[in-house]
Amino acid sequence: MDIRLFGTANDSIVDGPGIRYAVFVQGCPHRCPGCHNPGSHNFEGGYIKSIEELASEIKNNPLLDGVTFSGGEPFCSAEELSYLASLLDMNVFCYTGYLFEELVRGANKENHWGELLSCIDVLVDGKFEAEKKSYELLFKGSSNQRIIDVPESLKTGSVVLYEF
Ligand code: SF4
Repeated sequence: MDIRLFGTANDSIVDGPGIRYAVFVQGCPHRCPGCHNPGSHNFEGGYIKSIEELASEIKNNPLLDGVTFSGGEPFCSAEELSYLASLLDMNVFCYTGYLFEELVRGANKENHWGELLSCIDVLVDGKFEAEKKSYELLFKGSSNQRIIDVPESLKTGSVVLYEF
């Protein structure tokens, strides 16, 4: 299976805790004013990569603490990222412009949102809001965004924030 990418970073220390392989998918519907990656919006842009090849590149780096899905909007490539996560068996940190509650409510067989949620350990949710931007925030761009413990939130049925 292939995935459309905006780019990758093989040893990021800013996209979640530890050293992480960051996968930036191509395509985003949110159009947040002040977005840091406007080149990732076009669903026809970026480049195509084999998910199996991407997985073996990631597995070849023994220093990684986990993988991070970002973009673009990862939930617009939910089927592809779920498949990638299934090949990796690693800690998964994920960014999304959707709210956790929207993803849970909107999940269906076609969009694979439930499948991707079940692969994620930590989700940073919500659109980037430029007026709430701060460089002092850890792993998030604006203060409206939440860092969510996904397995606990799915288990309890309400948002549980992740404790570092
Ligand atoms: S969700 Fe992320 S990539 Fe999409 S427009 Fe907002 S900041 Fe940019």
